[in-house]
Amino acid sequence: MEKSQLTALSEKYGSPLYVYDTDKIESQYKRLTDAFSGVKSLKLNYAVKALSNINILKFFKSLGSGLDTVSYQEVQLCLTTGIAPHDIIYTPNGVSLTEIEEVAKLGVQINIDNLSILEQFGQKHPNIPVCVRINPHIMAGGNSKISVGHIDSKFGISIHQVPHIKRVVENTGMNINGIHMHTGSDILDIDTFLRASDILFDVARQFKNIDFIDFGSGFKVPYKEGDISTDIEQLGLQLSERFNEFCAEYGKDITLMFEPGKFLVSEAGSFLAKVNVVKQTTSTVFAHVDSGFNHLVRPMMYDSYHHITNISNPTGRDRYYSVVGYICETDTFASNRRIAEISEEDILCFHNAGAYCFSMASNYNSRYIPAEVMVHKGTDYLIRKRQTIEDILHNQVVVDLPQKKVLKEVSEKEFTEA
Ligand SMILES: *Cc1c(COP(=O)(O)O)cnc(C)c1O
Repeated sequence: MEKSQLTALSEKYGSPLYVYDTDKIESQYKRLTDAFSGVKSLKLNYAVKALSNINILKFFKSLGSGLDTVSYQEVQLCLTTGIAPHDIIYTPNGVSLTEIEEVAKLGVQINIDNLSILEQFGQKHPNIPVCVRINPHIMAGGNSKISVGHIDSKFGISIHQVPHIKRVVENTGMNINGIHMHTGSDILDIDTFLRASDILFDVARQFKNIDFIDFGSGFKVPYKEGDISTDIEQLGLQLSERFNEFCAEYGKDITLMFEPGKFLVSEAGSFLAKVNVVKQTTSTVFAHVDSGFNHLVRPMMYDSYHHITNISNPTGRDRYYSVVGYICETDTFASNRRIAEISEEDILCFHNAGAYCFSMASNYNSRYIPAEVMVHKGTDYLIRKRQTIEDILHNQVVVDLPQKKVLKEVSEKEFTEA
């Protein structure tokens, strides 16, 4: 989005502010569907946890996307958009049987990632088809926190336990209708997907009623100029070919699924924050913004790089700054970063702020969670109001503790009586 448009939005809605551009979401969605135009049946399920504002979910529905969820509450958010329950897939990790049953009752596609719950669910509900999440034991992903498919990961049922899955199916009479994997985020090498796909095809062959194979997600997007991203077009060509061969062999045109979050929304988001103070120390120039890890935690939690530009002074001479927040803990967004000369009250734009930014925001330091604006075909819409003190107080219960008698008075009284 244009710098002038973003500065106008920060003037109109105040700071800090999240802004999302639906044009970018749509072009990413189209890029992925185009890359896989070679398969008969493709379904993308947008991973809701990346950015879960219901207007964004509604926009995905309008594109024809399904939705990928990880909690009962995310399913409830999705249903507010009017999406059909069977267009929602539920891929939780380590949740209770009760929660899975509640979601299944709504008609949502269930995806189970452990043998214990699979068996209990199959015994009680043999008529509800479920997908199983397989751990292909492949090391993938940008770092250990977001790499979830390796051998000692907590996610998925090990490929070595597929015979157990088959035994559960035989014993319960349940039906496995899908095979799923998700190996991590920020996967650059398309060979990772291709290797994992061979493993999933092997698993799928062992079940008779498969309707879909879900290859999860983890596509890497560029975070700075010159950054390389997953070659979606190459992946599309190579995986589609293998997938079509599998369908021919399996004797049925099943659906190829993905559930991207970051790929679809990361670049569509900008986070705008105002510089409160420029502080020159003996070693560093700090630019303190009216935000912190309470609003954007990725740099502190994952060491993620977010490109930062000074949209109030775009043509200014570059200088070196450490961009930090106002939280009473170290909350460094960027260290010694070249940015166009910053003055107090300038607006800084944090790029790639669409995925895992707002959705991980908190009220730490009792600060308000930012407002959100969606820009659709040139028009801006406020899609979440800035919080107020009522939101901070909401659900807090004030109790009146029994008054303690003042010890001194008591003893004086006792003294007189005596
Ligand atoms: C988080 C998650 C995704 C989305 O991952 P991205 O890296 O944002 O594309 C997809 N599937 C599952 C099961 C997830 O937990």
